[in-house]
Amino acid sequence: MSKRYDVIIVGGGHAGCEAAAAAARMGVSVALVTMRRDRIGEMSCNPAIGGLGKGHLVREIDALDGIMARAIDRAGIQFRMLNKSRGPAVHGPRAQADRALYRQAIQDILAGYQNLTIIEAAVGDLQIEAGRVTGLITETGDHYLAQAVVLTTGTFLGGVIHLGDERTAAGRIGEPPSNMLAARLAAYNLPLGRLKTGTPARLDGRTIDWSGLDMQPADDPPIPFSTLTDRITVPQISCGITRTTAKTHQIIADSIHLSAVYSGQISGTGPRYCPSIEDKVHRFADKSSHQIFLEPEGLDDPTIYPNGISTSLPRHVQDAMIATIPGLERAKILQYGYAIEYDFVDPRSLRRSLEVKNLPGLYLAGQINGTTGYEEAAAQGLIAGINAAMVAAGGVDTDPFVLDRADAYIGVMIDDLVTKGAPEPYRMFTSRAEYRLTLRADNADQRLTDRGIACGCVGPERQKRWGDKKQKLTEARDLLSRVTESAKTIAAAGLPAPRDGAKRTAADLLALETVGFAEIQLLWPELAVIPDNLHAQLAADCRYAGYVGRQQSDIDALRRDEAVMIPPQTDFTMVGGLSAESRDILAKYQPETIGQANRLPGLTPAAVVSVLRHVKRQQMAAKAVVKS
Ligand code: FAD
Repeated sequence: MSKRYDVIIVGGGHAGCEAAAAAARMGVSVALVTMRRDRIGEMSCNPAIGGLGKGHLVREIDALDGIMARAIDRAGIQFRMLNKSRGPAVHGPRAQADRALYRQAIQDILAGYQNLTIIEAAVGDLQIEAGRVTGLITETGDHYLAQAVVLTTGTFLGGVIHLGDERTAAGRIGEPPSNMLAARLAAYNLPLGRLKTGTPARLDGRTIDWSGLDMQPADDPPIPFSTLTDRITVPQISCGITRTTAKTHQIIADSIHLSAVYSGQISGTGPRYCPSIEDKVHRFADKSSHQIFLEPEGLDDPTIYPNGISTSLPRHVQDAMIATIPGLERAKILQYGYAIEYDFVDPRSLRRSLEVKNLPGLYLAGQINGTTGYEEAAAQGLIAGINAAMVAAGGVDTDPFVLDRADAYIGVMIDDLVTKGAPEPYRMFTSRAEYRLTLRADNADQRLTDRGIACGCVGPERQKRWGDKKQKLTEARDLLSRVTESAKTIAAAGLPAPRDGAKRTAADLLALETVGFAEIQLLWPELAVIPDNLHAQLAADCRYAGYVGRQQSDIDALRRDEAVMIPPQTDFTMVGGLSAESRDILAKYQPETIGQANRLPGLTPAAVVSVLRHVKRQQMAAKAVVKS
């Protein structure tokens, strides 16, 4: 007899774990089906979470009570705030992880959900009834039923590893690919494409000469990712820094024809922003050296991840290349670098809820949607898990949980994916967001936690903590805008005095780049009651208040457009005034809102107006029918 769950998640990577945890927090029964239980939460490539843009995603996941931030707080061995010299809007929290501690943290958190069952199996097919996905079938023929299924199979679909001219079918090193499922998805007409990514060789840290290398320490004190973490207790380590040399580049240039990427063996497109060392040497031929961070993979693990030199060159070339790098002359390679090529599903086939348009009941999240990176995967997993659980609990007509471009980086990423697709592996950057001053890493909870509470994905502990924090923020804001001083007193304290001679509030002074809490407390000692952990958030709010006000009209316009839904059954041949090309674009992408139509490449503003008129006319006709 088939086992039944409300929601089934396939894959125990970063998307799958977040999806399973989100669905479990929503209170439905959840099964996580994955190939290997012991590899749940595995970091396939670099042992680090966060960074520029990615750090924002992690804070947003945390604001919706996701698990990635809590896990890295238990496993981070080098916390650093990137871009600290720039404004708070683009600060990028990052932490290097102890790989084993991270896996353990994820597995422990998942074990805490009573309504989540973990099943070790390889999924080979979907079960479909009346055009809706109703469950899945494992490669060994077991059936599991569900109201909704979330696929998060990462780099495993049709995965092929390339190392020089060696080709091995694999999902990642040492694990089989998911070929049966890839073939079934193609048979269901899901639009599949091919992408690639790569990883560097891993080195034995005991064979590295650290003596001449620069070392980069962790921030002191380390700032946690999660608002549920009071402080980091994991010991913090330093990373080494070295560089490639002219000799390294010569070896690479002489052997580039042997690289799987350059020999024509690989057809998939690689990540432009995370290029292999052969790409860097080829594309930036004028650069004589590239920086390499030597990152320990764990506190009790001698393995070093040399960040910046991913490669698919043959083993003997990797040996020769590594030996030309200062400090690595005698370094032993523990595992050679490789490239992996895999199938992904064109994300333009998805709704903003991450449900497949033509296969209701099926949700996709993570690398399968053409993204690269743990954080991008986890953020999608969270949204897919919430939506799958909402449908399972409330029925197929339940309104989905959707974040827009003004809500969150998560909203920016999903909108980019479903609107523009993934012509190359998609990675998050702060530059992708239009409303950066509002979408800061420090204010993710202000933006999202109440939304999460309303949809049911936020547990009681965070609800309580957020309630307390919100109250303290309100009291602090009130105090900051109540206390005032004259220009004369402000100047006497050595702070920038207003030229107009008028009085200023503490909030006015905090808006200035050179003034922080330490300075305003000189003038108003009563501000010492404001807890330290709110300082950064309040200061950034004050600093950006003026700009954010100005941005609001753009956000209002975006929201107006996003609120006009284009019904899924719209027949674009019936829309007057459209060119054949516009009709093709609309039929292909099936935008869900006027806002999304507006962002479709190739669609003219005039075409969007035609669609808007059509939708409005249809709405009026529907209203007239209801009245009569
Ligand atoms: P994964 O973490 O890959 O998890 C997939 C999960 O699905 C696994 O648990 C697997 O067992 C399971 N699974 C697959 N098929 C089935 C099935 N049929 N049945 C049951 N379970 C199944 N990211 C970067 O940002 N930069 C990089 O430089 C980079 N380099 C990479 C290099 C390599 C070699 C690899 C493999 C990945 C690299 N990544 C890189 C990508 C990063 O690892 C992924 O983006 C991230 O892990 C994706 O998360 P995911 O949850 O989508 O998939």
